[in-house]
Amino acid sequence: RTPSSPSSSDDTRATGFVRVRGAREHNLKNVDVDLPRDALVVFTGVSGSGKSSLAFGTLYAEAQRRYLESVSPYARRLFHQMAVPEVDSIDGLPPAVALQQQRGAPSTRSSVGSVTTLSNLLRMLYSRAGDYPQGQGIIYAESFSPNTPEGACPTCHGLGRVYEVTEASMVPDPSLTIRERAIAAWPQAWGGQNQRDILVSMGYDVDTPWRDLPQKDRDWILFTDEQPVVPVFAGFTPEQTRYAVKRKMEPSYMGTFTGVRRHVLHTFATTHSPLMKKRVAQYMLSSDCPTCEGKRLRKESLSVKFAGLDIAEMSRLPLKRLAGLLQPYAQGKAGKQQHETEHPEQAIVAQRIAEDLAARLAVLLDLGLGYLSLERATPTLSPGELQRLRLATQLYSNLFGVVYVLDEPSAGLHPADTEALLAALDGLKGAGNSLFVVEHDLDVIRQADWLVDVGPAAGEKGGHILYSGPPEGLRQVAESQTRRHLFGSSELELPGREPRTPMGWLKLAGVTRNNLDNLAAAFPLGAFTTVTGVSGSGKSSLVSQVLVELVAEHLGQEISLEEEEADALDQPAPVTLGGQITGGMEGIKRLVRVDQKPIGRTPRSNMATYTGLFDHVRKLFAATPAAKKRRYDAGRFSFNVAKGRCENCQGEGFVMVELLFLPSVYAPCPVCHGARYNAKTLEVTYRDKNIAEVLGLTVDDAWEFFAEEPPVHRALTVLREVGLGYLRLGQPATELSGGEAQRIKLATELQRIGRGNTLYILDEPTTGLHPSDVEKLLLQLDGLVEAGNTVIVVEHDMRVVAGSDWVIDIGPGAGEEGGRVVAAGPPEAVAKVKASRTAPYLVRHLQ
Ligand code: ADP
Ligand code: ADP
Ligand code: ZN
Ligand code: ZN
Repeated sequence: RTPSSPSSSDDTRATGFVRVRGAREHNLKNVDVDLPRDALVVFTGVSGSGKSSLAFGTLYAEAQRRYLESVSPYARRLFHQMAVPEVDSIDGLPPAVALQQQRGAPSTRSSVGSVTTLSNLLRMLYSRAGDYPQGQGIIYAESFSPNTPEGACPTCHGLGRVYEVTEASMVPDPSLTIRERAIAAWPQAWGGQNQRDILVSMGYDVDTPWRDLPQKDRDWILFTDEQPVVPVFAGFTPEQTRYAVKRKMEPSYMGTFTGVRRHVLHTFATTHSPLMKKRVAQYMLSSDCPTCEGKRLRKESLSVKFAGLDIAEMSRLPLKRLAGLLQPYAQGKAGKQQHETEHPEQAIVAQRIAEDLAARLAVLLDLGLGYLSLERATPTLSPGELQRLRLATQLYSNLFGVVYVLDEPSAGLHPADTEALLAALDGLKGAGNSLFVVEHDLDVIRQADWLVDVGPAAGEKGGHILYSGPPEGLRQVAESQTRRHLFGSSELELPGREPRTPMGWLKLAGVTRNNLDNLAAAFPLGAFTTVTGVSGSGKSSLVSQVLVELVAEHLGQEISLEEEEADALDQPAPVTLGGQITGGMEGIKRLVRVDQKPIGRTPRSNMATYTGLFDHVRKLFAATPAAKKRRYDAGRFSFNVAKGRCENCQGEGFVMVELLFLPSVYAPCPVCHGARYNAKTLEVTYRDKNIAEVLGLTVDDAWEFFAEEPPVHRALTVLREVGLGYLRLGQPATELSGGEAQRIKLATELQRIGRGNTLYILDEPTTGLHPSDVEKLLLQLDGLVEAGNTVIVVEHDMRVVAGSDWVIDIGPGAGEEGGRVVAAGPPEAVAKVKASRTAPYLVRHLQ
């Protein structure tokens, strides 16, 4: 089945092939495959077919393992641990660099400038070639970094913001007494009670409203830096305490008082818990640092200028403008007059560094990232943007003989940006590197030198290599799902239908956020809308940020605050926030975001628990005669509850084994052998399967198994419809891809029958989805609209856009060159708008 693979191992070495034999990672079916080096190899196949298991789980993991063999055991511990792949042998494998989409938040302190190392160069430029004020000596490059003691502004320690607390911020409701928690900033639970008891021992009145206490007492409690240690009589009334103190009775313990301001500032500065930090931050007022005006650097560093700007101002420029500003210096056309006469060497240094910076910036501009600034913090970037930043850095690192393993680099890219990406990949290949890319975008697949198609279906039904060879050869492979999309009509097979007539309009006005300035937009209700535009044009700012926030606020619905958002505290708040809903909310009763974030962060959550399906299953077990006899309730069949789970592993199914000089490893629990339940619980069976065996069923198998149980069956039917029939019910959340998580969320929504009037918002739902999976997704979204709901999707896949009822194209460019509605209307109308950069791509997909 692999027509062009060379046969003998001598051949493969000579002709530059990577030879994989007997790969069995995850669902791979003991496969052999040969991949050319110095080529663009693209791995295709439906979602869950095993592409990542081959590219990342086998090839990259093995390269990493070999590299780690060569470093000391101590150093090995510092690396992210990777399992040894299940494979017989791999020959001819070069060292590998993985550029994976990271969905977790990277460290807050990193920025575009630090990830790309451009900030280092810029600091060198300022240090060596900047314009210093008269009489100031030269300062070193580190002094231009707010993260060093030499550079940090002494007032704000390089944060750019100062935090202060006031009586009003710490005591929001002064009509309460201390006992009634007037001091909201105090810790909750025991900590706050302890401080109150200490005040009682010291004779303060905790039962008078705060505002009636003497100012002197209030000031001391809030602002003192003294930390007196006093006897505490737990559970005593103030009167009993006074008596006990006078009699010098034995106290419950000695307690240390801490002033409220001290508590808040100290906790904020030292806690490692984002939640704690978030809690105390509520009681603080923050503002730009008055000394550095938010620029984070000390005065001397800010006094050095280049092209009239200090380094903080320079770091705030969009990269495109920065490149334009440096260009004349790089070409030796600027900065001459003054320097040549006074310091000729300075002009030469300036030109050298500017040349280097300009060349590196050019790569970033080519990848469509010119709208970012150096100071932009990485947690605010999309995973696709971060991957492209890393890619740009690699392009400039001059490595060769390396294999780059990439995960859907086209994610988040407008077709116009994808062309630039392909050029960048070509550059890496031209420099003598190999590229192994997992990709769904047909434009990228068409550029491949070699295709590896994995399939035919997902999970157990996948894991075979259907084809490995030059793209043309895939034409002959009947089993391939990719073939139809690559060679057939490139349109999705969807039932044709008339564009819908909107039931009303959801109108926004005065939207001001990031690059959006006083924008107005209208979204049709009861229809399927796609929002398009080049990367950085403002789609997410409009849809995922402002629209979501305004609608949620209107509905009084909380937007869930996720862990990563706690990090946002370290970021300046969005500079401007504005916008209101001017109509259409009467048609919306509920807001749902369907994103690709994990459905849980621990193996304790899985598809069955998330969808609610497991509740029904547990009830079925509890209703069996065996369970009734033993009085086992539904809780007994949860691996998260002590009664029924295996106590040795606490229901995890595996235990961590600490090794002295090696990374710790996970091993199946020796007591339950991975079943997660205790033996007694497993004795109960429902139709001859115990609860662990049921969790081991795939959705497809469970669908047959539970055919007689309507609630379970219905949930399973929907999961099959969204293409997840191959997943096991108990597959841990941590093993699911972003696309799988998204479809589980969607399925959970779809099984709530008879809703309507719900607004669904999805940001790039086709990421990670094979064209065949996209068809499934669209059918589901279509079903939601048919049921009277509204769907708004940020999207780059023109086939999806062509099939929508309404298109809103944002742009025309990125960053300051975007942020406007370039066109809005049915796909046919938008495709005719000259100013739209989406139109030329969209037109190809309209009949
Ligand atoms: P693709 O990249 O083609 O979408 P994957 O290689 O991610 O597919 O997955 C192939 C199969 O392996 C799927 O059934 C998936 O659920 C399963 N799988 C993926 N990751 C893990 C894991 N860490 N442990 C066990 N099974 C996994
Ligand atoms: P799109 O979704 O079209 O790719 P975005 O809405 O993400 O575009 O970005 C629009 C502009 O706003 C860009 O210039 C981007 O750099 C900027 N931007 C987006 N998010 C943030 C943020 N959290 N902080 C600062 N600037 C941002
Ligand atoms: Zn400062
Ligand atoms: Zn166990």
